[in-house]
Amino acid sequence: MHNLSPNGPFMSRMKTPSPPLSYNADVNLPSAWINADLHCHSCVSDGTLEPEALAARAKANGVELWALTDHDEVGGQHRAMTAAMDLDLPYLTGTEISVTFAGTTVHIVGLGFDANDEQLIAGLAATRGGRRERAMDMSNELAKVGIKGAYQGALRYVGNPDLISRTHFARHLVDTGVCHDTQEVFRRYLVDGKPGYVPHRWAKLQDAVRWITQAGGIAVIAHPGRYKFTPNEEFAFFSEFKAHGGQGVEVITGSHNTSDFAKYTDTALEFGLFASRGADFHSPEESHTDLGTLPELPAKLTPVWEPLRDRIHKRS
Ligand code: AMP
Ligand code: MN
Ligand code: MN
Ligand code: MN
Repeated sequence: MHNLSPNGPFMSRMKTPSPPLSYNADVNLPSAWINADLHCHSCVSDGTLEPEALAARAKANGVELWALTDHDEVGGQHRAMTAAMDLDLPYLTGTEISVTFAGTTVHIVGLGFDANDEQLIAGLAATRGGRRERAMDMSNELAKVGIKGAYQGALRYVGNPDLISRTHFARHLVDTGVCHDTQEVFRRYLVDGKPGYVPHRWAKLQDAVRWITQAGGIAVIAHPGRYKFTPNEEFAFFSEFKAHGGQGVEVITGSHNTSDFAKYTDTALEFGLFASRGADFHSPEESHTDLGTLPELPAKLTPVWEPLRDRIHKRS
């Protein structure tokens, strides 16, 4: 097993100015670049495709290393991995854990863990626990502004009864003509200060990182550009994440624009974090970034799949 401690050999290698594992066409180094897509959702959480259909889509789009990262759930991992093996598509286990940090919801992706780990499974179950009640509260809030029956409506889109999310409400509000698209839903409803928003307490940062790392995986900050932190709060978030044993950050994600790519490249280097890449694909109808279509990771970063080499599932 590789060393997962934050001060282990991979971390010290990151501090060298030009990591030899990076792709560099000018100097004939071995190319470590692969089309890895390590963030997406199936109907086991709030995506619309089955894990098998996502595996096929990833393969068709040229993805060379794939992870399914359903929210707070590993119930789709076996199906995703089996489908990937059938397609000869290398696979890393994945999940995306909902976390409350300093009163804000943030997401922590876990990659390369043992999907049968009991502490991880119990932690995810506890994190999912309040979703049904929260959804009923959201429905009651929407009813106050004249949108009736949203809980029953959202349930029709749910693939996993344990995992009702705002995305399912968004689909219901679009299909019933309340909004034109899910982006409009998340502008007008379901977000802090708007009808249908219900504050919720998710997992603690240290617990989410611990569940992932104790199961042999690497914890990765998901789409940091989406959080509305002040610079001081963001520094505290990254510092605490690292202090708890977190080792990675998403730099190239469908949730980032080009200035976020540059900013979080610098942040990854500043904090000595491995860099990840993933579309955060949810649905062919809704997602603007498809699996495997993002730009490459900047060459000066060390990809998160380097320390996870031994954890990649490949067809034997
Ligand atoms: P929940 O875990 O129930 O709070 O739902 C969070 C999910 O809502 C995210 O994983 C996204 O899939 C979706 N979401 C949140 N904000 C937006 C947005 N602005 N546009 C589209 N989808 C969003
Ligand atoms: Mn989602
Ligand atoms: Mn997320
Ligand atoms: Mn996601």
